Amino acid sequence: MKDRDGNRQSRGGPASALPVSAPGRMRAGITIAASLTFRNISHSYGDNEILKDLSLSIGAGEVVSLLGPSGSGKTTLLRLAAGLVRPLAGEILINQQVVSSPQGMVAPEKRGVGLVFQDYALFPHLNVRRNVAFGLTQLAPAERESHVMHLLATVGLEGRADDYPHNLSGGEQQRVALARALGPKPGILLMDEPFSGLDGRLRESVRNETLAILRETRSTVVVVTHDPEEAMQISDRIALMEKGRIVQAGSCEELYHSPASLFAARFFSELNSFAGSFEGGVLKTPLGDYPLKGEKARSDGPVTVCVRPSDVLVLPPAIKKGRRRQDASADTVEAYVTARHFLGERELVELYLPASEIKLKAKLPFGALGAVATGSQQPVRIAIDADKALLFEE
Ligand code: ADP
Ligand code: MG
Repeated sequence: MKDRDGNRQSRGGPASALPVSAPGRMRAGITIAASLTFRNISHSYGDNEILKDLSLSIGAGEVVSLLGPSGSGKTTLLRLAAGLVRPLAGEILINQQVVSSPQGMVAPEKRGVGLVFQDYALFPHLNVRRNVAFGLTQLAPAERESHVMHLLATVGLEGRADDYPHNLSGGEQQRVALARALGPKPGILLMDEPFSGLDGRLRESVRNETLAILRETRSTVVVVTHDPEEAMQISDRIALMEKGRIVQAGSCEELYHSPASLFAARFFSELNSFAGSFEGGVLKTPLGDYPLKGEKARSDGPVTVCVRPSDVLVLPPAIKKGRRRQDASADTVEAYVTARHFLGERELVELYLPASEIKLKAKLPFGALGAVATGSQQPVRIAIDADKALLFEE
């Protein structure tokens, strides 16, 4: 995250707890960040319209995720920014200068843009040193060699300079690709699903380490990902794409708490959804009626009510109605437990509401529900926190 002066100092999330410079790693050089603007970009392959009148401005030094499902046009947008593809309509600007338009393009190597491809695209016949040196042709040989070693030290791979890509792990290959992209000190670094080839713990640690390096370089970063958690962890701002358009751009909190559409809401988490309606400032749902004020309130009519599983309150049978009331302002309704899934510290409970015949999922701390058996004839009572419900007009 940026502080009020626009400096990217603590990004929030687990990454900010990392030491800025991990032991044994050299500090990355600082680049002069550039701004990147997409202005009314449209692009097609044949009859297939891939990007549709898309506009987005990315400030110098900002880290922005392009988030969206597969096929939404993320890679195409990145390739356009890199200058690998010419747009059919619109303009791309770097530091307010037009670099791409249907009329012409500034060559990729003249844009001050670094690119990390999804598959890293290392040269298999070149060792690590020569992979990283590639593209640093403007430097004298001695200077080039010391810069390469500095870059390798930055990503913690100085001991692997003479190895070939096939001898490296996925995480190490990713770091070579990052070192190569950072070599010319790009003002903008474009990364296409840079962590998707890595799994589990490695993915997490490579991501944190990469973030620490990017924080030091202070370049503008655009990261393509289809993983909302990853986007929230790494970026200052998220641009959510659907079918070639940006459907919402904003801070991680904005996208998570105030999704602009059902698509955006569903993209960020599993949701319970059911039909409700607004009548005179009161939200009427199968789970009860809730007077809502402020930004949640709207004019009369039908709405789709969405509630995250973690916002469903489940009260075990032993607690009688009327004795709880610590936090739910609304009424409770009867439900039967149809399945319970152990998730470690939490559990996912599937529920059936006989009165309205709807099914819901609730995520609770493990143990909160006690010993209620799946399929038990003993009902539990549930409530939702209506202030946390997401409402979408039909
Ligand atoms: P994403 O990265 O979000 O998965 P892409 O930008 O790769 O999406 O692709 C968007 C759409 O464009 C897909 O339907 C894909 O098949 C199509 N596409 C991408 N590149 C080409 C190409 N070179 N020729 C034809 N169609 C393409
Ligand atoms: Mg892609």
